[in-house]
Amino acid sequence: DRFNIALDGPAGAGKSSAARLVAGRLGFVYVDTGAMYRAVTWKILQLGLKPEQTEEVVKAARRMNIKLTPGPEGQQVYVDGMDVTDLIRSGDINRNVSQVAQIAEIRELLVDKQKELAANKGIVMDGRDIGTKVLPDAEVKVYLTASTRERAERRYSELVNPTLTLDELEKEIAARDRMDSERCISPLAQAEDAVLLDTTGMSLHEVVEAVLELCRS
Ligand code: C5P
Repeated sequence: DRFNIALDGPAGAGKSSAARLVAGRLGFVYVDTGAMYRAVTWKILQLGLKPEQTEEVVKAARRMNIKLTPGPEGQQVYVDGMDVTDLIRSGDINRNVSQVAQIAEIRELLVDKQKELAANKGIVMDGRDIGTKVLPDAEVKVYLTASTRERAERRYSELVNPTLTLDELEKEIAARDRMDSERCISPLAQAEDAVLLDTTGMSLHEVVEAVLELCRS
């Protein structure tokens, strides 16, 4: 039986790793919605635009073609045919993406796409507003979190060539969380019917098992 799983939470809570593994175990498709906001951000920076140039940004977003292809190593992201999977993880994107994600028209555009992707069920989708806005009827909803320090540590250990310190990364993550939680449209928030899972001190394996257990009940 196919159903949908909505995974929300702040940056570095382990959503994407957990979502990918849960999808693999269930034979579901993983959709990383943060990658879509990152892809738009990549394109507009590439065009020399700033997030505050709303009109131009929206125009560019309407014209661009974002393609997500699920794979065993995770999701690949293409913008107008170019593989940007790794490019959208840069510090430049981290610092600009939340501002781009505040633009109402951009959210409408991407939320419609996300709803379409989930229409046939069997989807594990992670983001900030999946349980509240994108898939309010998802059969399983989880809100993943962890202490800010631990989230920064997890992200730090994933960096191949850290160009900033752990403290700086923690500040960057905290700033992004604040912007994501305080924006007026679809702020980061736990859905009323979501299960809160604080993963501080938990291994990825334990998180995956906990989410799978929620799917059984
Ligand atoms: O999950 P990730 O860190 O890749 O998300 C990048 C940014 O995209 C978030 O900080 C947030 O501003 C935005 N985002 C969002 N809604 C989503 C997913 C991501 O606003 N569903």
